[in-house]
Amino acid sequence: MSRRITTRMALTGTAVTTLLALALTGCGSTKGAGPVRAGGSGTVTISATPSAGQSGGVASTPSTPSSPPKSTSGDNVPPGGTLTASPLLEYTTGAKDRSVALTFDDGPSPVWTPRILALLAQYHAHATFCEIGPNAKANPAMVKAIRAAGDRLCDHSVSHNESMSKRSAAYQTGEIVGAKSMIEAAGGAGTEVGWFRAPGGDFSPLNRHIAAANGLRPLAWSVDSQDWKRPGVGAILANIHREMGQGAIILMHDGGGDRSQTLAALKQLLPDLVHRGYSFEFPAK
Ligand SMILES: [Zn+2]
Repeated sequence: MSRRITTRMALTGTAVTTLLALALTGCGSTKGAGPVRAGGSGTVTISATPSAGQSGGVASTPSTPSSPPKSTSGDNVPPGGTLTASPLLEYTTGAKDRSVALTFDDGPSPVWTPRILALLAQYHAHATFCEIGPNAKANPAMVKAIRAAGDRLCDHSVSHNESMSKRSAAYQTGEIVGAKSMIEAAGGAGTEVGWFRAPGGDFSPLNRHIAAANGLRPLAWSVDSQDWKRPGVGAILANIHREMGQGAIILMHDGGGDRSQTLAALKQLLPDLVHRGYSFEFPAK
């Protein structure tokens, strides 16, 4: 029930202005508490002729994480062009051991990203940062700091439009390629962007293929911390611990508003993971 109310609030926020929506919500907002699943199975069936409005069994259906599918094989039917990354949504890293991939969305933020980087360094942890293009452009030092720390970069679109899958192919290409270019420019020569995470998990066969054709693996998550709701540090940690599994990809946020709860949760989560023998990995390509 609360999820439905929250969704309505998030949509209202989006309707007001994108910036306001970003301040109020976060990546996981409009699609509910869990990752968006690709048809409920590990392999995604791709239509030979995906269209911009295609719902095709992907996106927009919130589901509760249980045993995340592993998307590790390639698609059979690319829509044309050469895919330089897998177009299959990645929910977990596929690792069988105690490892975790931390991901932070909606940044970089000149306030919160450096604090998160410092904490990660303290525990020799690493993460993948899914950046909004204009945020990267406005904070190039943060992009460079992420690179210098040995962390990884992910494309989180230009406008953070959580309904991008309903728009034209040209629009979606602009959102994906535009942000990739902004992040690369901000990071300087040699900057690599390896993944694409659709805002709000709004993946479709088309935008996954656009990403893959540009060398970006579509990146979902298996653990939604729901930190963007600012539910309190205890609730963030409880969300994480409840959904943790092998090779988990954890969704958190370093941008989009006050991330003090995220930071406080990390201060407990990181030493706990280290103590329990977890290693920190990057998503697979
Ligand atoms: Zn986001």
